[in-house]
Amino acid sequence: MRVAVVGAGPAGVRAVEQLVRAGLRPLWLDEAPDGGGRIYQRPPAGFTRGARALYGLEAAKATALHATLDALKPVTDWRPGTLVWDIGADPRQLHTLREGRAAAQDVDAAILCTGAMDRVVPLPGWTLPGVTTLGGAQIALKAQGCAIGRCVAFLGSGPLLWLVAYQYMKAGATIAAVLDTTPFATKAQALAGLPHDPATLAKGLYYVARLRAAGILVAEGVTPLAIEGEGERGVTALHWRDAAGRERWLDCDALGLGWGVRPELQLADLAGVPIRFDPVQHNWVPERDAMGRTSVRGIYLAGDGAGIGGADVAEMAGACAAQALLADAGLPADAALVRRLQARLRRQARFRAALERAFPFPAQLAASMPDETILCRCERVTAGELRAAAEPEGPQGAAPEVNRAKAFTRIGMGRCQGRVCGMAAAEVLAARLGCGVAEIGRLRGQAPVKPLPFIAAPEAEEAA
Ligand SMILES: Cc1cc2nc3c(=O)[nH]c(=O)nc-3n(C[C@H](O)[C@H](O)[C@H](O)COP(=O)(O)OP(=O)(O)OC[C@H]3O[C@@H](n4cnc5c(N)ncnc54)[C@H](O)[C@@H]3O)c2cc1C
Repeated sequence: MRVAVVGAGPAGVRAVEQLVRAGLRPLWLDEAPDGGGRIYQRPPAGFTRGARALYGLEAAKATALHATLDALKPVTDWRPGTLVWDIGADPRQLHTLREGRAAAQDVDAAILCTGAMDRVVPLPGWTLPGVTTLGGAQIALKAQGCAIGRCVAFLGSGPLLWLVAYQYMKAGATIAAVLDTTPFATKAQALAGLPHDPATLAKGLYYVARLRAAGILVAEGVTPLAIEGEGERGVTALHWRDAAGRERWLDCDALGLGWGVRPELQLADLAGVPIRFDPVQHNWVPERDAMGRTSVRGIYLAGDGAGIGGADVAEMAGACAAQALLADAGLPADAALVRRLQARLRRQARFRAALERAFPFPAQLAASMPDETILCRCERVTAGELRAAAEPEGPQGAAPEVNRAKAFTRIGMGRCQGRVCGMAAAEVLAARLGCGVAEIGRLRGQAPVKPLPFIAAPEAEEAA
């Protein structure tokens, strides 16, 4: 049986581990030069920062996952640096790109463990040099051993905001401020649901306490107004409003921003897996059962790409998806392991729901962005141009949903295919049309899921 696993983060590693235990030798693909995924991303060869410095309180988990990853490489068809850019239905084929060469891999089944990416809300000035996502700021630290600036501000909401700020502080960077758009009261109310995972809650509180103890400006319930700066020099300040309604300016030369993460679901979408809006996560998520089975034969999902759950959940979900695949293929499965993991996953789901309530996506902030804000940076489409596309008296009539608006304005048509701006664009459109964001729809996945060089045009594909 030809089985592929896409992704070598926590979900992919644990999925492959189960397949190998059952005697399979899966094809294992990751576009990154090595495995580990986002949270346990490895630094390039030659970097000498140890696990404790790189992964902090998660060092033991990172080391354990890397050990399993390395042990699995020789017993699988391991292909790092390989992007899967499309997925075909009949025969089931993965279209890949490695070192500029395109290929097509026939498989009977695939477990997609494609992870997540940052969720951002564009602000005036967010395209200035020096502005990056929270995840990008963290990758600079983990994979390049550098900070994004000399005096860095962090803005957004969610666990990653506090974690990245803490990691920068520990690494010796100067932090201008940590500004959380979620009011303290919202988080305090949701705390009631959080003790389902006391260790994670304790870690979060520890990061906040350490940042405050270091004398760093920490503010909650803030409203960002604009990022200020100029051409080559980049960011110089953040203009914001505090919870008491006072306008303030913060000097900084770099800014990391983000509001949680969203699933990387394009491959699932292209494979034909139905996608639904999850109001708790405020994200579009692929439909799958508790084991990661989808309604598309041979397609299984695990980890953040199947709905945001965090790294521990990703590990358990990866193992479950592999067990589901084995059971469906009539191969020996481990029922006791599945029972144990499913019980833990149910507990984690309650914790995750509380976390989502504690750090809600700031839909109102996105919906109310000023007209002149560049919303889609790939195609330089402003929020005002998108709003104009919703006007019934416009030349083409009103765009009733986001894909029609894409056709009118080119929003989401550039290099990132709307992965960065899509969520905020839907909020802007929904507010203008006076409907819920779920009714606006989502930008449909299109192949290639990431840009391909011209030399790797599909005609040049080779059979693997
Ligand atoms: C930028 C970023 C930073 C994060 N940092 C932290 C953190 O510090 N602490 C924390 O608790 N959580 C963090 N998270 C969340 C955490 O990464 C996830 O919860 C966890 O890593 C999920 O594991 P996963 O295996 O589902 O996905 P990931 O770890 O994201 O792994 C997915 C893998 O799939 C590969 N991939 C994706 N698409 C393709 C494709 N088309 N072709 C080939 N390969 C592909 C990627 O290269 C990646 O290696 C972060 C998330 C992001 C986006």
